[in-house]
Amino acid sequence: MRIAVLAVQGAFAEHEHVLQELGAETLQLRKPGDLANDFDGLILPGGESTVQGKLLRELSMMEAIREKIQDGLPVFATCAGLILLAEKITGETSYHIGTFPMTVKRNAYGRQLGSFHYDGMVQGIGVFPMEFIRAPYVERISDGVEILAAVDGHIVGVQYRNQLAVAFHPELGGDYRIHKFFLERMVAKN
Ligand code: GLN
Repeated sequence: MRIAVLAVQGAFAEHEHVLQELGAETLQLRKPGDLANDFDGLILPGGESTVQGKLLRELSMMEAIREKIQDGLPVFATCAGLILLAEKITGETSYHIGTFPMTVKRNAYGRQLGSFHYDGMVQGIGVFPMEFIRAPYVERISDGVEILAAVDGHIVGVQYRNQLAVAFHPELGGDYRIHKFFLERMVAKN
């Protein structure tokens, strides 16, 4: 099983480490030619969504990634990656990949709660160590979107068909269960 990790900016190395620990082969996506390789799933890491979006546009990679996701490629997005996937970003007129029918709010917890840890329930997985870093949350979802996790009434984990997205950083807490869920339940079954 080979998983591509978007590696233009952000916490991609941490995801690669987790995937390798779980026995998957990894492939970095840095330039358009990398998309020509075969891969079974895609990870969009945390970082800075504005920078990642700008680079994807400048590198002419946005369209190809969007098409692959629309064609059913399993994708797992964390934090900035969730923002990249969102169809709508609160207070902004543009979006990035835009394949996930939800509205997200960036830097949603304000300055004082810029970063925090929370042990919260993830549907189908159990209590999970969630690391939030200047995180977004999901403000609105469309029909068909499944809520996997919420913190203080705010949605922080969602699945829509082949797309899985969380507002926190599961690659940082030393718990690989969500990555395992992605590999076993979404990639292997695809
Ligand atoms: N604040 C970042 C953004 O808006 C996301 C932060 C993160 O990925 N940890 O893109």
